[in-house]
Amino acid sequence: MESVLASDVGARSSELDITVERGQRAVFCGLTSIVWLHRKIQDAFFLVVGSRTCAHLLQSAAGVMIFSEPRFATAVLEDRDLAGMADCAEEVERVIAQVLARRPNLKTLFLVSSCPSEVIKIDLENIARRYREKSQGSLRVIAYSGSGIETTFTQGEDSCLQNLVPEMPAGTDEQNQLLIVGSLPDIVEDQFMRLFAELGLENVAFFPGRRSETFAAIGPGTRVLLAQPYLGETARALIARGATLLKAPYPLGAEGSLAWFRAAAKSFNIADSLFDETMRAPYERAQRSLEGCKRELEHRRIAFLPDSQLEIPLARFLARECGMIPTEVSTPFYDAMTMAEETPLLPDGIDLFEGQDLDAALDRVKLSRPDLTVCGLGIANPLEAEGLRTKWSIELMFSPIQGFDQAGDLAELFARPLRRKARLEVGSWN
Ligand code: SF4
Repeated sequence: MESVLASDVGARSSELDITVERGQRAVFCGLTSIVWLHRKIQDAFFLVVGSRTCAHLLQSAAGVMIFSEPRFATAVLEDRDLAGMADCAEEVERVIAQVLARRPNLKTLFLVSSCPSEVIKIDLENIARRYREKSQGSLRVIAYSGSGIETTFTQGEDSCLQNLVPEMPAGTDEQNQLLIVGSLPDIVEDQFMRLFAELGLENVAFFPGRRSETFAAIGPGTRVLLAQPYLGETARALIARGATLLKAPYPLGAEGSLAWFRAAAKSFNIADSLFDETMRAPYERAQRSLEGCKRELEHRRIAFLPDSQLEIPLARFLARECGMIPTEVSTPFYDAMTMAEETPLLPDGIDLFEGQDLDAALDRVKLSRPDLTVCGLGIANPLEAEGLRTKWSIELMFSPIQGFDQAGDLAELFARPLRRKARLEVGSWN
């Protein structure tokens, strides 16, 4: 037992070179993150100030039927607004009043800016400030950017959480709290909470939580453990409030989850024996859950095009625990702080890219013809038409993939398209 649980994961033998690309990009914008954020923060409403395109994006990304009443909406800018002929602030305030009339129990209203509202410079922060004053503290109104100008879709969550940090009350040196940062499906949050409790860690909070009424206090006694890799700006805002960022890989796969929990346990001086005893069963269960898919994934080549900012941790998991061979790993933005514990775990021989130059990236994929390419939705069809198998990276945002109990499901997400390909090939011989 001393064996696996006591040892730390091994590091690569050489430094990674990162090639920076700048060119045409094909990614979703930050509005997309509203789809998982509105499910997570259950007493909040997201009001996008944008165009019909923004409204369509949200509607189709969420797959919402017209009969349902989701906790997000778009205040659509008309030609008059865009031409500067109407008072946009007044229009936005009118829509806010409608939302509040229908939902008087809202605790937080997010005003989300988009490309068009930023281009015509609608001052949502000012509107948010005015509404807060009007509500005399009963409603929290927060403005943040969801625009697609030079951003990718997971940055919507980073922007949202970063703008919530000033709402957190000041903590003390003594509070000794672990703050898990990054939205997680409730089922994963519950599993993590159980494991932390078994480790004897009771003062654990999640950000964002399911309710937005109260926030964890933040200060020098707060230790931050990121559950999602794309939250660099939120992490910096928390550090600026005095919190300490714990260094850890992300909880993807058996190994990643173990190292993630170990970082928390070490920081709170949890005895090795208790850590091993607590983690043994879930870790071994996670390893067993990988066995089936591993046979299908082993020695298969995989390329990641830049999209979700999960690319590096996923490549690490697939290479180390499933035996896949990542050829190219591209990420929209490389943040050395949030990737500090991940890049050293990537195997040798990977081409790592930051940014995107779409045509060049597609040419590389067509030339190297990996068994599987993880990419954005818009790129998948053209690649499939070339006989290449693809996996939509956005699917990974809508599935519970973190933690020991999800390790097998995570591997399965990559095995499925390969299995489908094998079936099609068999079918074509019949
Ligand atoms: S925010 Fe920008 S990129 Fe996103 S849907 Fe609206 S116009 Fe398109």
